[in-house]
Amino acid sequence: MVVVMRTGAAPEEIDAVVARVESAGGSAFVSRGVQRTIVGLVGDIAAFQTLNLRAMPGVGDVVRVSKPYKLVSREHHPEATTIQVGGVPIGPDTFTLIAGPCAVETADQTLESARMAQQAGATLLRGGAFKPRTSPYAFQGLGEKGLRILADVREETGMPIVTEIVDAHDVDLVAEYADMLQVGTRNMQNFALLQAVGSAGKPVMIKRGMTATYEEWLMAAEYVAQRGNLDIVLCERGIRTFETATRNTLDIAAVPMVHALSHLPVVVDPSHSGGRRDLVVPLTRAAIGAGADAVIVDVHPDPTAALCDGPQALYGEELDQLAAACRDLPPIVGRRLTTSG
Ligand code: PEP
Ligand code: MN
Repeated sequence: MVVVMRTGAAPEEIDAVVARVESAGGSAFVSRGVQRTIVGLVGDIAAFQTLNLRAMPGVGDVVRVSKPYKLVSREHHPEATTIQVGGVPIGPDTFTLIAGPCAVETADQTLESARMAQQAGATLLRGGAFKPRTSPYAFQGLGEKGLRILADVREETGMPIVTEIVDAHDVDLVAEYADMLQVGTRNMQNFALLQAVGSAGKPVMIKRGMTATYEEWLMAAEYVAQRGNLDIVLCERGIRTFETATRNTLDIAAVPMVHALSHLPVVVDPSHSGGRRDLVVPLTRAAIGAGADAVIVDVHPDPTAALCDGPQALYGEELDQLAAACRDLPPIVGRRLTTSG
């Protein structure tokens, strides 16, 4: 069961709901979103039904949710949620371009990538300081030094930062710098990490596990929500299939399907799904057509020298095509490109 508080419900009203649920032997998980607070109830439903929670001050609704994920489900939350990332919206009325280098390599490369991203219409900067690499011999990222570079580039460009976290022990460090924490495909079911980012007080982007079903992906989001953080965006980044010509297979149906199942925004990563520069713009067009709330794209000033994922990084003419797609297509599906925070 889920208690949906009214917009602007007072903290004491929320505390009173929690206390009443606990007095009946249940547990209550409070999730504060930008728009409203939701309290997830775990325990004896029959006992909760006798508590008359609906009549309590500040309570908007009490809903039984049949899905295994409750706080992130559409069932009790019919309107789509808008998340603010450092003042930049990701939600149903807008289309947001997130772009930047796969990895932070140097201060110059990061600043140049950010300028390219901004030129193409991006309002959020991506860039990995901690990289989850398949090979232990590959570049692992600059760590804290990379975070400092990102913070300097944010200062210079005004673009809020999206960056990956790979280890629960680094949450305080990464949250100090990041405007949105990214959980990568390889960590989508790292439950300790999900719980840690759920308590970090920053928006979280959860990339779909490359073999995860929608339900598993939404359950990952539920871990974050259950820790009190409803500022979550879900990122479709391609799944493993029998096809080997592309790096992964973009599951475009994930966009409308996950929108139907959840109130959270859905982002598409056309770079990591296709793994090829020539596919990024066509996949971005498909994402916008399918109703994505944002795309996250790799760019690099010199892809041949990139330390990570150069073959999928945009520059030059393809970057111009990305800019045109992000400018021209969103209005056709009733959205406008986010221009600034
Ligand atoms: C990334 O965005 O840099 C990344 C590592 O993505 P994924 O987790 O989707 O592979
Ligand atoms: Mn990458």
